[in-house]
Amino acid sequence: MLDADFFRRWMTATAASVDREAENLTALDSPIGDADHGSNLQRGFAAVTAALEKEQPQTPGAVLILAGRQLISTVGGASGPLYGTLLRRTGKALGDAAEVGAEQFAEALRTGVDAVMALGGAAPGDATMLDALVPAVEALGDGFAAAATAAREGAVATTPMQARKGRASYLGERSIGHQDPGATSSALLVQALVEASD
Ligand code: ADP
Ligand code: MG
Ligand code: MG
Repeated sequence: MLDADFFRRWMTATAASVDREAENLTALDSPIGDADHGSNLQRGFAAVTAALEKEQPQTPGAVLILAGRQLISTVGGASGPLYGTLLRRTGKALGDAAEVGAEQFAEALRTGVDAVMALGGAAPGDATMLDALVPAVEALGDGFAAAATAAREGAVATTPMQARKGRASYLGERSIGHQDPGATSSALLVQALVEASD
């Protein structure tokens, strides 16, 4: 079973890996965007960590709802509302249970990913975070490590794609040949599930 502490560790592990990878994320966002993806997420997840410490939410759902709200309110870029919606909607789907099973979490995360699609209007193949998140959710039944691998492969697979949503889509065909920054950070988010369960 996964308790509030697990979800707290998921968020702090994500914050740590976003810190480690911030330069890389920003570098990926430089040729096809506005070179702020790393700093956007660093600011967002620093706020998430601080809010979790201060407010001490006691259920998995409350942890994710608080985290999502912080991302929405502190990240200016597209990724803030999108990641914020992912976590908030996943948290809402978990309800107020003190512990959740792996299957319940997988189902809730699918609800969150669906909400990202509804909000941003993107689908897999558009070279966005969804190219990592959708395969991850599909692999989650086989465990966190399988989901992390699927997310990483999904992120790499955005390189030959033409971006159809977000800033990178303004480049048209010139977006081809670049790995999507948001898919790359989504792979970090999913990998952090593995770290949180160690
Ligand atoms: P901004 O583009 O506003 O500067 P970021 O650089 O923080 O925001 O985030 C860019 C990432 O957001 C992209 O790499 C992409 O993965 C994701 N993204 C942008 N628009 C969408 C969308 N409509 N649906 C899903 N993901 C999107
Ligand atoms: Mg950007
Ligand atoms: Mg920006």
